[in-house]
Amino acid sequence: MPSKTVHNWRPFTVRDRKQIEARLNAPDGSRCPRCKEILEIRPITRHAAGHDLECRDCRRYFTRIIQTTPEAMYLFRIQKLATAIVRV
Ligand SMILES: [Zn+2]
Repeated sequence: MPSKTVHNWRPFTVRDRKQIEARLNAPDGSRCPRCKEILEIRPITRHAAGHDLECRDCRRYFTRIIQTTPEAMYLFRIQKLATAIVRV
């Protein structure tokens, strides 16, 4: 087992979150403002009615509260699909 220091997950800063939010509607999805990787969506969240966007490289997460509008659900599905494609 590697004895490398385990980095704890930390939330994105307010400034990072604003950048993420601003790009959520972009066709290429949301990307990490730090390393430009596509953020992964985790349906398991620190909040009951939302999901987490996270960057594995930076080990940062951003908990978003989902509004249950059709637009929000549509966006959520697109992002999930994009994440799945990237993973392949
Ligand atoms: Zn990153």
